[in-house]
Amino acid sequence: MSDAELVARHRAVLPRWMALYYREPIEIVRASGRHVTDAGGNTYLDFFAGILTNAVGYDIAEISDAVRAQLDTGVLHTSTLYLIRSQVELAERIAELSGIDDAKVFFTNSGTEANETALMLATQYRRSNQVLAMRNSYHGRAFATVGVTGNRGWSASSLSPVKVGYVHGGYRYRDAFSRLSDADYVKACTDDLRDVLQTTTSGDVAALIAEPIQGVGGFNVPPDGLFASFKEVLDEYGILLISDEVQTGWGRTGEHFWGMQAHGVTPDAMTFAKGLGNGLAIGGVVARAEVMDSITANSISTFGGNPVATAGAKATLDYLLDHDLQGNAAKLGSRLLGGLAAIGERNDIVGDVRGKGLMIGVELVESGGDRPSPDHAAAVLEETRARGLLVGKGGLYNNVLRLAPPMTLTEQEADEALAILGESIAVVQEGA
Ligand code: PLP
Repeated sequence: MSDAELVARHRAVLPRWMALYYREPIEIVRASGRHVTDAGGNTYLDFFAGILTNAVGYDIAEISDAVRAQLDTGVLHTSTLYLIRSQVELAERIAELSGIDDAKVFFTNSGTEANETALMLATQYRRSNQVLAMRNSYHGRAFATVGVTGNRGWSASSLSPVKVGYVHGGYRYRDAFSRLSDADYVKACTDDLRDVLQTTTSGDVAALIAEPIQGVGGFNVPPDGLFASFKEVLDEYGILLISDEVQTGWGRTGEHFWGMQAHGVTPDAMTFAKGLGNGLAIGGVVARAEVMDSITANSISTFGGNPVATAGAKATLDYLLDHDLQGNAAKLGSRLLGGLAAIGERNDIVGDVRGKGLMIGVELVESGGDRPSPDHAAAVLEETRARGLLVGKGGLYNNVLRLAPPMTLTEQEADEALAILGESIAVVQEGA
């Protein structure tokens, strides 16, 4: 049971469009490892890691200690004007990890601001307000980022001044080229990119912004090499590539530290947030120095890269690397994908199982066909919650279960989640 009075107060004072999961929303009051506990004392295995924010799990001593040590200095003010040692150190590490030559880093408080910054840099550097983005993408909730977002569930009310052309390649399961082989799919999407560029823009486009694996859009994985093929076209025109790594960064996809590496491409800029602070508010952009330094006006973020967030982020990065969590994501991701494929065989409401590492989407459809079923997704969420498992939801039609547990997940927890998902999907299948 949730606290009905708190739900009513939330609804009265917070915006209608702030989504709450579940018929009876949960108030989380404690968390540890991969588990969260609600106000009623119920404990759940969190298979959404907050919102992919708690990359390494909850209540990690190394991270809490680093944050506490910074709090104990009494210094928790601005991110600019004065030197902040942890900010410089974190920037050096991210520049190095990025693989971008001569890279510089700017810290923000969120993924939205990171993408706003990247778009500001690209449009300034290229002196153009035209941008390419992917259909079904999500890049944030401010003016430019809503403008480039290619999913109407999140972008319908935008009056953004950015001029955008949308290209195929984001949501293969349901796009026009879905039946093609990988190689033909890459070719068809690249032809589409060229067509969008030549027929809907004046050609002097600033950037293509893309998620290597779409997150909010339902964990859609394009064939490896898609962005390498896109990059050839972009290079012909001098167009920058911005990789939105807000969900795919920090090794979550298992194979690589950054999602774009699956395509053998080094972007001109990458944006990041979510997992870096393990729940603390931090994001940023890493870009080639000439792009980063292309703006000549002043530009600051009062809190972006503040001492507390950067201390916590440094400790998170250490933890991720010291424990080879990318390797763990690869190993347990395959285990989950295998188990989910078997569940899909038994239940025809599972239309598609896809993903990489610990970013796995299960697309639910109406029984006997392939029409998207948001009702089945909502029903499965209620069933898993009742059995002690929290999962995410998304996709253009809100019909995709999104599984993205903390990267410290154990084999036993993976199997527990598979058992709960198997039962929950079977219950919904029975009623379908
Ligand atoms: N980019 C991607 C790929 C995201 O998934 C999100 C958030 O879900 C954002 C940007 C926006 O990040 P934030 O919510 O931190 O502003």
